[in-house]
This record gives sequence, structure tokens and C-alpha cells, in this order.
Amino acid sequence: MSVIEDQRSVRRLHHDAGERPMITIWEATRACALVCQHCRADAQHHRNPRELTTEQGKALLDDIAGFGKPFPIVVMTGGDPFERPDLEELVTYGHNKGLHMALSPSVTPRMTPERLRALRAAGASAMSLSLDGCHPETHDSFRGVPGVFDKTLQAARWVRDAGFRLQINSTVTRATVHELPQLLELMVDLNASLWSVFFLVPTGRGQALQALTPEEVEDVLHWLHDVSDIIAVKTTEAPHYRRVVIQRTQNPAAGQSERGELYRELTAAVAPLREARIGAGALRRPRPPIEINSGRGFAFIDHVGDVYPSGFLPHKCGNVKEQSFREIYRTSPLLASLRDPDGFHGKCGRCEFHDLCGGSRSHAFAVTGDLLASDPTCVYQPGDAPVARE
Ligand code: SF4
Repeated sequence: MSVIEDQRSVRRLHHDAGERPMITIWEATRACALVCQHCRADAQHHRNPRELTTEQGKALLDDIAGFGKPFPIVVMTGGDPFERPDLEELVTYGHNKGLHMALSPSVTPRMTPERLRALRAAGASAMSLSLDGCHPETHDSFRGVPGVFDKTLQAARWVRDAGFRLQINSTVTRATVHELPQLLELMVDLNASLWSVFFLVPTGRGQALQALTPEEVEDVLHWLHDVSDIIAVKTTEAPHYRRVVIQRTQNPAAGQSERGELYRELTAAVAPLREARIGAGALRRPRPPIEINSGRGFAFIDHVGDVYPSGFLPHKCGNVKEQSFREIYRTSPLLASLRDPDGFHGKCGRCEFHDLCGGSRSHAFAVTGDLLASDPTCVYQPGDAPVARE
């Protein structure tokens, strides 16, 4: 079997990724009461007067619904979308159009059980919260906000009680990576539906120091595959997780002998939980990752309506106040170049996995300044996988 033909371990899109995104992220505002250290949005305490208005937001949702079925998922993020007083109105509008509405708020006093119930009633079905460490000290210092760890645990329970599917987002850095096994236990306790593990994109000197080495990234990706029968896992800015999943599905021992100290440490730490899950018959069928990437089945609309391939690529493709989002998504030359992995440079361009992976364009750009460069966080050398050679 060719790696490209493996349909079991990676979910393929059933439509042309150039015609319709599967996920659209809308940064509804940059306002946020927290203003965390690592905020992608460089959040502010006040809303920007140039943000999309309620009517412009509804027009955007109309535009997205115009892609047709299967409708894209719309994730309203920020900043903190709870800063918008028209959030319920917008969620109701999108839901009535048939869109799958999801929310990615911050944990602040604006999040209350009453508001969560109102948003669930308005039609939002999924909500993600950030949890980067399993101890208050780790998470609070990462977020730069004392007490936010305990409040996030409370909020996660409110989110579940309100009937949302709960996704937990965790950023992996040198400071948090050793807590992954305990974080996993916390995910299980919180009954989270999905664990989204984000690999820090180094955009400044300090952040570069916090990023894992490519070998450590590979150790974490293999470990995530191991625990994907305990909790559903997705990775953000590490699409080569799909390559690891394919390699391990076709050969469970693939790459195991080369794994490093970090992999052995994480594996040993999770052994008691694994034994308990086996004993309880609670292992699950792993959730196959989906073949989307920046600009390819995925797009980002910022608070003033500018469209980007992702929230970590500062390459503007257009503005929804001036042009239809559908038109931007379908005709942008930049987005078209991101959908053509044969045109990627270096090993990502010639890799036999690039149709399903393609590498993190954000990591490539952050490290090299070239949007189409090879992903510097991937250890794989094209042709290395025995399955690929077959
Ligand atoms: S070389 Fe590039 S395309 Fe191939 S697995 Fe690594 S990141 Fe993905």
C-alpha cells in the first residue's frame, strides 16, 4: 500500500480544499481581560472600533454559509469572544444558517454558567479552553495570570454541564513538556472530548528558546499517537503527526528504536493510567487526524476582517469588508501556493507524505522567513519510511 492511499489512519477531505474550507477561525475581537504572555493575537483590554460590526459579522456568516454543504465549522476566537455583547446573536445567526458554531473563549469573570447555557441554547456546540500545565504554578506563570488554573478547571466543568463538547488546548514548550502525562490524566478527569496539542511557533528570541528540538517534537508526536487510544488527540502546527500516525499504523514499531529520552520518560509516566484504562476496558479507537493545513481547508479571519492562511502567518490575502470571503479563499494566489505541496521547497517539496502533511508553514516561515520552506521541526528524511519505499 502506498502511504498516499492510506485512508484508515488519516481522514481525507471529501471535497476540494481549494473550493471550501473545513474550518474557519474568526477572531471576533482582540479584546481580552487576560492579555497572556504568549497571546497570538497580542490581545488588548479594549475592543477595536474597526472590528466587524454585528451586521458585518452576519454578512460574513452568510458568506461562509454560501460555501454550501458540508458547511465549514466556524470557531469564534479572540482575544476573548465573550467580550462581544452580540456573541449570542451572532451564534444564533450562524447556527440558523446551518453552520457548526464553536467558541474559544478566555477564562474571565465574563464566563458564567448562565452565559454558557445561553450560548449552548443559541446553537454553539463545542468550546475550547486552554490548559498548558497540570499545576497552578505552570499554567498561571505561562499565562501570566495568577489563579487562572483553578478557574479553568471550574470553567471546564461548567462547559461540560452546559452540554458543550469540551476541547482542551495545551501549548507544548520546554517548560511544559514534562507535565504532558499528568495533563493527560487531567483531560480524562475533565471528560474532555478532544486534546489539541499546540507546538509553539517561535516568533521571538525568548520563544525560540522555549521551543522543542525536532527530535523532542518527534518523541512527543510518537507519544501522542500512543495515548490516542486514551483520549482523542489533534495537533496544531505539527502536521507531521499524520506522518507518524501513518508510519505507526502500518508498522507499530516504526521509529521506536530511535526514540529518545523524552519519549521514554513520557511513556513510563503514563504507564499506570494505561494499565488502569486497559483494566477498565476503556481504551478507545484513535481519532484519525484530518489532512488540513494553513490555507488548505483552513483559513483565519482577524478582528478587522483581514484574511490569512492561519493565525500564525502574517500574509494577508484580502479583507472581508471589501471582498467576499469565498472569493478570497478560492482565488488568492497565496492560498493556491499553499495548496500545492509539489511547490514547497527542500524536503517538504519532495516528501512522499506531503499531500497529507505538508509541514507547518508557520514554523517554516518563523524560522526561515520563507513560507514554502521545509518544516524545520520535522526530523523525517524523504524515502526513510519502509512503507514509502514499498
Ligand atoms: S518532510 Fe515535510 S512533508 Fe514530509 S513529513 Fe516532514 S514536515 Fe511533513
